[in-house]
Amino acid sequence: MTTHKTYHYLARLGNLIRAEARKTKPKLQPVQLEMLHYLSVCNRYSDTPAAITEYLGLTKGTVSQTLSVLESKGYLSKKIDRKDRRVVHLKLTKKGRDLLQDSLPPRVLIRGLEQLPQQQHGQLIDSLHQLLNSMQEAQGCKSFGVCKTCLRLKQEEKGFSCQLTGESLHNEETELICREHLTPKPPVTDKVA
Ligand code: SF4
Repeated sequence: MTTHKTYHYLARLGNLIRAEARKTKPKLQPVQLEMLHYLSVCNRYSDTPAAITEYLGLTKGTVSQTLSVLESKGYLSKKIDRKDRRVVHLKLTKKGRDLLQDSLPPRVLIRGLEQLPQQQHGQLIDSLHQLLNSMQEAQGCKSFGVCKTCLRLKQEEKGFSCQLTGESLHNEETELICREHLTPKPPVTDKVA
């Protein structure tokens, strides 16, 4: 029963959010807005068409077509990787950032949360976070977690570095999500009384 009710609420929330995305001016498809949003929260190792495909669970063809439309409308630009010319990075333009600032979070969500007692906000975030983690794990998906919670993040004397890439990270980069994020495992509880 809990599963049915949870599905119902999540599906309806998704309907309302997508319906509002369709009202964006200038007009965008919900999937276009989702891609721009992803690019606004991901780090420099995750701003590629392959990472978007993985994150949104879309086909390569849909992603490539949607990115071309967004580029032609001036919301993002493509940059070739300095070390590997086969890799393309997608960067939001000022026009793309301005659009996101005007459209997200959706007003319908802002209004809904305003009606919810403040003390329930933290609890809601925690529950959604835990549900997301378990669903991703069940599906064998990558966690796409925030860098500052990654097992590979190393605190240096001045700032941080990534143990996977060996590169330094600015403080603000540790707030972004990453395709290579490694989730720390919960501590093993001692079951012996
Ligand atoms: S520390 Fe983890 S999350 Fe951060 S850039 Fe490296 S792999 Fe990605």
